[in-house]
Amino acid sequence: MLVFKFGGASVKDAAGVENLARIVTKYKDQPLLIVVSAMGKITNALEKLTKAYICQADDLGAIYADIKGYHHLVLKELFEPSHSIFNEIANTFVEIDWMIEDEPHDDHDFIYDQIVSIGELVSTRIVAAYLNQAGIKTQWLDVRGYIHTDNNYREGNIYWDKTQTSISQDIPALLDKGIIVTQGFLGGTSENFTTTLGREGSDYTASIFASCLQAESVTTWKDVPGLLNADPKFFGDTVKFAELSYTEAIEMTYYGASVIHPKTIKPLQNAKIPLLVKSFNNPDAEGTVIKETADTYFEKPVIILKQNQVLLSISAKDYSFISENHLSDIFKLFAQNHVKVNVMQTSALSFTVCFDLYPERFEKLLSKLDRDFKVKYNNDLTLITVRHYQQNALKELIQDKIVLLEQISRNTAQVVVK
Ligand code: ASP
Ligand code: MG
Repeated sequence: MLVFKFGGASVKDAAGVENLARIVTKYKDQPLLIVVSAMGKITNALEKLTKAYICQADDLGAIYADIKGYHHLVLKELFEPSHSIFNEIANTFVEIDWMIEDEPHDDHDFIYDQIVSIGELVSTRIVAAYLNQAGIKTQWLDVRGYIHTDNNYREGNIYWDKTQTSISQDIPALLDKGIIVTQGFLGGTSENFTTTLGREGSDYTASIFASCLQAESVTTWKDVPGLLNADPKFFGDTVKFAELSYTEAIEMTYYGASVIHPKTIKPLQNAKIPLLVKSFNNPDAEGTVIKETADTYFEKPVIILKQNQVLLSISAKDYSFISENHLSDIFKLFAQNHVKVNVMQTSALSFTVCFDLYPERFEKLLSKLDRDFKVKYNNDLTLITVRHYQQNALKELIQDKIVLLEQISRNTAQVVVK
C-alpha cells in the first residue's frame, strides 16, 4: 500500500483539490491512504482565532467569518448548492460556534487544539467528498480514533502500541473498500479530546500510518520539485537531490530545513520505508527519494536558514567559572521551559546558547534564570547551518553580516548572524 500526504499549499483552493484528484486518479487501483493538511494558510488563521478568543478580542467574529468564508468559496466552486457537503461542513464548525460563545476557561493549549484542529477536519471532508464526486471511491476517516496521544496539548506524544493496534486492526480491511482520506497533524486522547502533533505535523502523521501498515512508500506532494540544497526563496542557484540518506534528511530537518517535519524520518527509517518528495505541479517528475543509501556526493553545500533566533549568554553573578553544576541547573530550566538548543558554546565565565524565540516561554525562562545568573541576549537573529561546507561558500554567505557566534566541525558549520 501507499501513503500520500498533501500539505496546505497543495489544497489551498478549488483548483488544488481538482489537481489532487488528478494525481490520485493515477494511483486509485492500489491500496492508498491519503493524509491531508488544512487548506492554504488556514492553520495560521485558526491560531489567530484562538488568540482572539482567549483575549476576547473585538475582531473574533470577523476572523471566524473569514475562515468560514474561505471554505465556502472553495465549496461553491467544487459542488452543486444541493450537495450534502455544505451541511457537513457547517456541522463541523458547530463545535467552535459553541465553544466561542462561552468565555474561555480551560487551559490555553487545550483550547488551541480544539479550535485549530477544525482546519484538517474540514479540508479532509471537502477532499473526500470531491474524490467521491469525481468517481473515486473514498472513505473519510477520523484520525482521532487511530493516532492515540497523551494530553500534552499542542505537541501530543504518540502512544505507539495503542496506535499500532488500532491501525492494523481496521485499516487494511478499509483499504480493500477504497481510498482512505484522513487528517494530518491531529491525534486523540483516551478521553476523546483532540490533540495536535506540532506545527507542520502532517508529514509525521503520514509516517506513523506508513510504519504501522508497512507501506511500500510515503509520498509527500510539495510545491517544490524535491529536496533542494537550499531554500529557493533565499538562494538563486539551487540543486535538487535525486536521493538522500535518512541520516542526512534527519540532520537537515534538525537544523531547520522546513520541507519535512523533523519527527517524520525516524519511523520510516526504522521500518525501511522510502520517503518520496515530489511536486504536485509536476507529478510525473522524479523528485527526491529519501532512503537507506550510501553517502551522497554533495556537489554543493546544503544551506539551512533558521530565523527568529535568540542568542542568550549566561554567567554566574559572582564571576565564578561556569561549572558543571551551573550547566546542570541551566539545562533543567531549559527542559522545564521547552527550550530546544540549536547551538551552544561555553567559555570560562559564560555559557552561550542559541534557540528559537517563543516570547512567552522566553519570558518565563528569563525570570527563572535571573535569580541565579546574569543574562544578556540578542534577538531577531538568523542561524545559518552549512552541511558539507566549503570555506568559500561560507565566506560568501556571511560577508555582509555581523557574526555573533561561529562553530565549525568536520561536516557542519554554524553561524549566528544579525
Ligand atoms: N496544518 C498544520 C500546519 O499548518 C499541519 C501541517 O500543515 O502539516 O501546521
Ligand atoms: Mg500546513
